[in-house]
Amino acid sequence: MNSVSLFTNRPELSNDMAEVLRLFLGNIELYINAPGGGMTLTHSETEADGERVVQVSDGAFSWESREGITGDAVTDKRLRRRQAKLGAYQVMKRRTGVTPPWGSLTGIRPTRLLYANLDKGMDMDAACNELRRVFDVSAEKTDILRRIVTVQREISLPRPDETDIYIGIPFCVTRCAYCSFLSGEVGKGELLAPYVNALCGEIDAALDLLEKTGLRPRAFYMGGGTPTSLPPALLSRVLKKAAPLLAACREITVEAGRPDTIDREKLSVLRDSGVTRISVNPQTMHDETLRIIGRRHTAAQTEEAFYLAREMGFSHINMDLIAGLPGENAAMFAQTLAWLRSLGPESMTVHTLSIKRSSLLHLWQAQLPDGGMVADMVRAGAEAARGMGMQPYYLYRQKYMAGNQENVGYALPGHACLYNVDMMEETANVVALGAGAASKRLFPQQGYIRRAFNVSDIRQYIDRVDEMADRKAGLFLRQAT
Ligand code: SF4
Repeated sequence: MNSVSLFTNRPELSNDMAEVLRLFLGNIELYINAPGGGMTLTHSETEADGERVVQVSDGAFSWESREGITGDAVTDKRLRRRQAKLGAYQVMKRRTGVTPPWGSLTGIRPTRLLYANLDKGMDMDAACNELRRVFDVSAEKTDILRRIVTVQREISLPRPDETDIYIGIPFCVTRCAYCSFLSGEVGKGELLAPYVNALCGEIDAALDLLEKTGLRPRAFYMGGGTPTSLPPALLSRVLKKAAPLLAACREITVEAGRPDTIDREKLSVLRDSGVTRISVNPQTMHDETLRIIGRRHTAAQTEEAFYLAREMGFSHINMDLIAGLPGENAAMFAQTLAWLRSLGPESMTVHTLSIKRSSLLHLWQAQLPDGGMVADMVRAGAEAARGMGMQPYYLYRQKYMAGNQENVGYALPGHACLYNVDMMEETANVVALGAGAASKRLFPQQGYIRRAFNVSDIRQYIDRVDEMADRKAGLFLRQAT
């Protein structure tokens, strides 16, 4: 791991600059105002004549910028962070000769910045150019943002009296090596029934809450974990309990992510409950990779699950892939894409491998694959989507992603998942149920968002479910402040 000594008169900006350093150096050991070996970066911020002057240097390359102080505390805080990051970025770019695809951007939702420019009255060209000018975002990435925002603008925005509904089922048959989600292995299944009992209680409370608030359900999403790791009777119990919510939604998604959890009986439960969209996630079509990443199914099982779902009438099947999985090269990824294309799903999400601290890959000290190869894979994913007639419709980035790439959702026209867009753009209230679920309430007049979190631990959730319902009531029934 690289070490960096950062000498700064504004240590509170160290994390921001460290994010930029990681774009170039991967994981780093950071020493703040202390020598630690490795490279040294100096940063200073001073104020003079109504301007903030920032200087960043690594000894060989220096960068200076001046920006006017607005006097608005929130704006100035944001600009100070941006200036420090840009300084670190410019020095590292010169030092390494590398230009990251997203330039100096480290946030997870770049579309927000494009929307912000559009909100200032810029047209699309000007808004994209501004992203390139300020953050050095590549033409390729700016173009995908442009296409995403164009698609999103055709989707009706949630109204203030609407809410999305999320139900989390935090169980999986095995843990994928890259997984950072809250998900317990089903094991002997002793927690499944108590969990569903608690969840049904929380659904009752949510129905009551919606009646009190007048909120109307818009999009329903059951994720996790893998909801289809529940046995059919329990899956049916949850969906029957949630039936009044489902009935009012325009879109009903259930993650049936792991093909080895899908069978005719469970698909019948989903179909008879009115589910409109399911995910059957291959991740890769190479059995050896599936074995390495701990998914206990084969590519053939994915194909069988897909055709079974089709045969049973599911007209919107989403499939997720991951670019950069251990041991895979561009040719292998291309084979997976070709196979997926032969199936013809209505939507697909191309993820880029990221190694989160809570994942098994991190524990195994796995390294991210070559950035150039992953960039080619991501490009091939975009090409395949285009070949299938799909458009990109949402995008997000994560920390520790291979090649500093992104995750992109593609869909055939008219098949963009409302819930995904609502989540990425934070445009909808969310009443979220289950262990680890996060409810969200927008206060559009006041311009802020408030959240209420359920406990993540499954046993704690079961024991304290009434408290979770109370937290949600507190969030949605309280007055704006
Ligand atoms: S299926 Fe999804 S939630 Fe379950 S272990 Fe794998 S990545 Fe995690």
